[in-house]
Amino acid sequence: MYIPKYFTPKELFPPEISIPINGKFDPRNWRRFDERILMMADQIREDHGPMTGNEGGLTGCGFRLPIKKHATIHQTCWDHYDFDTLSQHPFGRAIDGHPKEKDVFSIRKSIILNRFKYLHIHFLEIDIFGKNSGKPWLHFDCRNFTRGTNGAPQLWSPKRGFVSVDEYLQWGDK
Ligand SMILES: [Zn+2]
Repeated sequence: MYIPKYFTPKELFPPEISIPINGKFDPRNWRRFDERILMMADQIREDHGPMTGNEGGLTGCGFRLPIKKHATIHQTCWDHYDFDTLSQHPFGRAIDGHPKEKDVFSIRKSIILNRFKYLHIHFLEIDIFGKNSGKPWLHFDCRNFTRGTNGAPQLWSPKRGFVSVDEYLQWGDK
């Protein structure tokens, strides 16, 4: 089992799991994650400096629980309705990072250009900005997906759909 070096349970789990009623985080919860995405999160942290998950009132930057009323943490996520049906967060295959030092565009660029180092990152969201803060965040995931040009991750924008590596490297976010 891979336990991340740089991220605490609070940063990657919702409070129901990171701060359970008995007050003690159960380390078996790390099994909810695909270990590849935890390894990639540590790699980004090592290469690009401090990066947090949940912070400033945000939750769900890592693993997300289903929010249906009857749902409990013991249920699977097959019946989650509150997220995009292809969201990888309820399956523990995605993380939203909030870098402190480097800007998000330069980190995405490094992931695109160093595809062997970031082998397990298959998908990056681009053009995403916090509703209140206006700040971009770094969504990366290891979904089962065909890689893009020359093995680079697929780049997807909620505004533009799939965007080519060349276009993104030249023009950045929109
Ligand atoms: Zn995300």
